[in-house]
Amino acid sequence: MGMKILLEHANVPGIKTYEVYRQNGGYRSVEKAIKSMTPDEVVEQVKASGLRGRGGAGFPTGLKWSFIDKKSGKPRHLVCNADESEPGTFKDRYLMEYIPHLLIEGMITSSYALGCNLSYIYIRGEYMWVFRILEKAIKEAYAAGWLGKNILGSGYDLDLHVHCGAGAYICGEETALIESLEGKRGNPRIKPPFPAVSGLWSNPTVVNNVESISAVPWIVNNTGEEYAKIGIGRSTGTKLISASGHIKNPGVYEIELGLSVDEFMNSDQYLGGMMDDRPLKALVPGGSSVPILPANLIFKNAEGGDRLMSYESLSEGGFQSGSMLGSGGFIVYNDTTCIVRNTWNFSRFYHHESCGQCSPCREGTGWMEKVLHRIETGYGREEDIELLWDIQRKIEGNTICPLGDAAAWPVAAAIRHFREEFEYHVRFPEKIKNRDHFVAEPFEKVRHLVAKQEI
Ligand code: SF4
Repeated sequence: MGMKILLEHANVPGIKTYEVYRQNGGYRSVEKAIKSMTPDEVVEQVKASGLRGRGGAGFPTGLKWSFIDKKSGKPRHLVCNADESEPGTFKDRYLMEYIPHLLIEGMITSSYALGCNLSYIYIRGEYMWVFRILEKAIKEAYAAGWLGKNILGSGYDLDLHVHCGAGAYICGEETALIESLEGKRGNPRIKPPFPAVSGLWSNPTVVNNVESISAVPWIVNNTGEEYAKIGIGRSTGTKLISASGHIKNPGVYEIELGLSVDEFMNSDQYLGGMMDDRPLKALVPGGSSVPILPANLIFKNAEGGDRLMSYESLSEGGFQSGSMLGSGGFIVYNDTTCIVRNTWNFSRFYHHESCGQCSPCREGTGWMEKVLHRIETGYGREEDIELLWDIQRKIEGNTICPLGDAAAWPVAAAIRHFREEFEYHVRFPEKIKNRDHFVAEPFEKVRHLVAKQEI
């Protein structure tokens, strides 16, 4: 197994409790930062680590921290984005559920670095039991003197609250999250101003993902330079991957970035290969919003180079032949999967979750869902495929927040790589209506039939 930074103590019995967490070296980074480092020195270590935002965007965390407005004199806030709602992604839940004090330790050390005296963890409404676990852990941290007034006699004060959302995917977008935290409807804001200048209650605010904040204690304890030695190129450190779908060993894995996709998929210490040894058909490597990859582009890129689990390697070839590491929601599909049905399912989700502020997203996601539904149920028309392509193009890049792109990309990639399957649906409606299409006609046969114009 590779290096463990986040899950090093995950299997220690009782690690959820303060006592056991502390016995295993917990809260050392708070001591080190507060007693022997200035806030700027902590920021420099995080910058040196090369840590990139683990929520999906991959923006350098230290750089994001350096944007926070210190000149205005207003109070500053750190908000942890625990609104993990991307289909296929469940790694933040694992961290918070099994090692809640790691996130709290990261929040204290990071808040100190940013000069925040009031910080929040915003958790999705569906994670109510995890919300209670965090509440209990925060209480324990207050009782042990890691939160509250004059922490470790340093004069530094910090209050930390966990806030439960009402169950909306859009609140994972940082400005929608801030709106929701302020008690309003979770609509994304138009930027600029960015939260680093005007965020929560118009104060300078940094919003970071659970996994990013949980990496900070290790970086402070071991230095940013040591963290940067792990991984590959600009993809430094480790990453949590939530693996699901047609594989033998689904679950949450911590991998060193740079591991080959082949090893991750097929070795027994990770996913163990395909369930029931059926052929691999497709992969969504980074959560539902990233482009789907067909089997021939999963282990190798278009140039024949090995595909690695890293930000750069997974996006090689752009959207023509690549995808994205995203949030690490690794969804594997075998040959029985109907890609049209899968795409419709994702579209349904994005339509449901659109906040409705901008027309391309509000209307476009609805159209895509309807058109995909009629194709998927055997009522599609030949021109529907071009119509879908046209709609997704009009959404991409024309919306207030990235949900529009997240809805458009899966549709574009599915048509780009599995066009024959869409054509099969519109040309062979009776088979589709009888629902015998993919068990009876594996994708390679569909591809062959469409190419020969036999359907
Ligand atoms: Fe709302 Fe969609 Fe516009 Fe984002 S892109 S602001 S979710 S309508």
